[in-house]
Amino acid sequence: MSPLHTVTILNVNIHAVTNEQTAQLVEQFIAKGGSHQIVTVNPEFVVTAQSDEQFRQIINQADLALPDGIGILKAAQFLGQPAVPERVAGSDLVVRLAELSHQHGYRIYFLGAWEGVAEQAIAVLKQRCPNLQVAGFFAGSPRLEDNEAIVERILPTRPDILLVAYGAPKQDKWIARNQARLQIPVAIGVGGSFDFIAGTVSRAPEWVQRLNLEWLHRLIKEPWRWRRIWNAVPRFSWLILRSKLGRLR
Ligand code: UDP
Repeated sequence: MSPLHTVTILNVNIHAVTNEQTAQLVEQFIAKGGSHQIVTVNPEFVVTAQSDEQFRQIINQADLALPDGIGILKAAQFLGQPAVPERVAGSDLVVRLAELSHQHGYRIYFLGAWEGVAEQAIAVLKQRCPNLQVAGFFAGSPRLEDNEAIVERILPTRPDILLVAYGAPKQDKWIARNQARLQIPVAIGVGGSFDFIAGTVSRAPEWVQRLNLEWLHRLIKEPWRWRRIWNAVPRFSWLILRSKLGRLR
């Protein structure tokens, strides 16, 4: 595998890959076996990683850190880093993985989201990919006291791909903590992807996404998320600007 191009934003490393390259890398990881961790880095991840050193290390040690957000592409450009070709969104990736499962028989385990949501997401994915291979699904919880029972439940199902929907950084810490035992070829924290696919939370229309206003759509639909949106948009922008000014001085 040729080395991946990396951009560094506020000491967080992100791979400059496309959706297609991501799918190819997933296939390579599965062919190779062992355990790999994929993180989907959006601006909120970068802000959280400034004060959470464990999370920053997990991102920087991940086998693949995807550029999940237009803010990442813009920040790389603004900081004079190599170009990041396109956004690789977690929920688009889940759909792509379902297609790969349909084609190649990869077995996917769906962990997380509230009761019933993963099941509903699987039903939606199966309409498009009838041969989707489901190794299992379980809501569970990211709490430490539930960790052992969840690992025991997943181990015998031997999935090729594990999707963990507990929101960041909990989902990524869950994977980092358990991958040595699980040895799943591809494990990915996928945030609210199951909710989007199941339709329990609506994603912004395409034209809103094209205008880079997905965050505004979320603020209107889920106003209680204002603090997280504050971190992802103004706070991130301010940190990027400060970093650039610091370097110019
Ligand atoms: N979630 C969960 N258990 C928890 C906390 C969160 O299953 O203890 C799920 C939640 O239902 C949602 C997902 O984690 O499906 C991620 O939610 P969020 O919207 O925070 O993720 P984002 O897409 O913003 O990363």
